Amino acid sequence: MSTTTKSRELLDRRTALEIERFLQARRLALSSVIRRGLGERQESPADEGDEEATASRTLESEVQAALVDRASRELAQVDAALELLRERRYGYCRDCAEFIGLARLRSLPFAQRCRPCQERAERTQVVESRRSLATLVTADPD
Ligand SMILES: [Zn+2]
Repeated sequence: MSTTTKSRELLDRRTALEIERFLQARRLALSSVIRRGLGERQESPADEGDEEATASRTLESEVQAALVDRASRELAQVDAALELLRERRYGYCRDCAEFIGLARLRSLPFAQRCRPCQERAERTQVVESRRSLATLVTADPD
């Protein structure tokens, strides 16, 4: 009863269409987040005096900026995934070229790596950001 048929799983036409539709919808949603975020950031009236209000406005625009930042990064991932779909290269790990797997693609439609490669990449990133932080600290003239 333990037949682990975890073999040749591939992206079928129907799933590809489903994912493409999802990505298109996501693309629209993200574009509107970005547009709204940028619009709201521009119309911040310079009404000084009330420090508390200024502080909360700053916080708000920081949150807004972070949202826009995250949305534009996700939008880039969505665009990349759509391009891969068009080129029929979608669903393959960019590091090991194995098929990423339908379950993973369904939950993370713009995953560009299989799980093991993603975990390795994240570990590397953490190490790298720690390293650059260390450089910053040691480069501090004070
Ligand atoms: Zn991989």
